[in-house]
Amino acid sequence: MPDTITACGHDTTTPPVRVCAHLTAVTGDDPVPDPIGVLTGHGLQHHIVCAGCDTPAALICADCAADLHVTAWRGQPGILERPEPLHTTVSRWPLPPALGEVISLTPAGSAWLALTADGRIAELRPDTGSTVSLATVDVRSESPGEPWMGHTPSLRLLASADARFAAVVRDYGRFGQVLDLADGGRPTMTLDGGDHRPETVPFSAAFATVDGRTVLIHRTAWNRLDISDPATGTLLTPRTHDLDYFHGRLHVSPGSRAILDDGWVWHPVGIPQTWNLPAWLGTNPAEPEEGASLQALCQRAYHWDSGMCFIGDDRVALSGIGDDDDAMIPGARIFDVTTGTQLTAFAGPTGTFLSDGHRLYSTAGTTTHVWDPSTGHRTATVPDFTPTCLHPGTGELATITDGTLLRLQIKI
Ligand SMILES: [Zn+2]
Ligand SMILES: [Zn+2]
Repeated sequence: MPDTITACGHDTTTPPVRVCAHLTAVTGDDPVPDPIGVLTGHGLQHHIVCAGCDTPAALICADCAADLHVTAWRGQPGILERPEPLHTTVSRWPLPPALGEVISLTPAGSAWLALTADGRIAELRPDTGSTVSLATVDVRSESPGEPWMGHTPSLRLLASADARFAAVVRDYGRFGQVLDLADGGRPTMTLDGGDHRPETVPFSAAFATVDGRTVLIHRTAWNRLDISDPATGTLLTPRTHDLDYFHGRLHVSPGSRAILDDGWVWHPVGIPQTWNLPAWLGTNPAEPEEGASLQALCQRAYHWDSGMCFIGDDRVALSGIGDDDDAMIPGARIFDVTTGTQLTAFAGPTGTFLSDGHRLYSTAGTTTHVWDPSTGHRTATVPDFTPTCLHPGTGELATITDGTLLRLQIKI
């Protein structure tokens, strides 16, 4: 039986999906039975049946299968394995007790920066064992409301690639502060993300380096992002535009070519968007609203603020396979940001997503998994280590746990 003849009548270049007769019989305004995806254990291969039966019959094309909007999954997807050698020795540096509790870690220049619970920013140089206090931060306080979806407001540290500037922002909160570390930690900007539902997202802020110039991208309202000069606070992208989109956590590609915004729209649907950063800064201040490079990658009901990262400047990885938070397969979807098209999807990756442009790193429990983002194979596993960030200069994954800086060298 050739698998290219579909009951929906569409030619297909991707593998068709077998569905039960009740689902192929749905036409026009007929009520659709709750479609259930049944995973076969071979990658993401599945068939779809309605709740009352378990008899896949006819083949339909992948597009028509996607339109059925599976409401639940049975079975397990298959994870592809292709073990490769990886140096998995994690180095451990117990930090000096005087540093106190570290609540956020970020790469900066050739070192690491840490934010302490009492508001100090310290440079960490594990190779020499030195820690140097650089600045004290004072983010405007705000009265915490009820935690939204379990998110407690918390401070997060960011740094420019050249380590001159730092920013501390309150995730699921409204305010932040920018400091010039080359000028004794002088505050240069107060960040205000606006008072409309800031508790629904990590604070939108990211440094980028465009044509050798350090800039700060930050939200100034729930639906507005701006670029400012972090040395002076000067606005670099003046315009008047409205956008019906709640900006979320920002990711900047390694070469500052593109931005990925983990935002959402009412009601609520997560819609990760990407656009070109040099075009925004150089030619079109409205690039995030209506730019030619703007790409809405996918729509996921009730699903945002999840693992995602750039893989080089042209690809992103998004965690979660599916279009509704109630029916997501743990896994990764890989998109081309220049076209907005999905390149591939594979089961397995969860948690924090990080990439060195070559491999995708994900976390599950106390373990890190390594994936080939082109083929979807898992190539290695690192036990007892769950990094929170990746240093693009030193090629290390790192985290601070119980007062110890843990690092894994991944650069080949
Ligand atoms: Zn059925
Ligand atoms: Zn079809």
